[in-house]
Amino acid sequence: MAVPKRRKSKSKSSMRWAHEAIDVPNLRPCPNCGAYGLPHRVCPSCMQYKGKQVRLKKAVVTEA
Ligand SMILES: [Zn+2]
Repeated sequence: MAVPKRRKSKSKSSMRWAHEAIDVPNLRPCPNCGAYGLPHRVCPSCMQYKGKQVRLKKAVVTEA
């Protein structure tokens, strides 16, 4: 197996890590309920996609 000849300089490591930042996810408002969610995904709030009910909303458990 190939072994690197020299240790990477601090500068080279920094250059590499400069591209590792976590960016803010691209959120879009739902056309049905307005809640923000990822584009091209089922809405996390009303469970609709392209105007269709894809999944049923989770039943909210209330103390009776
Ligand atoms: Zn929605």
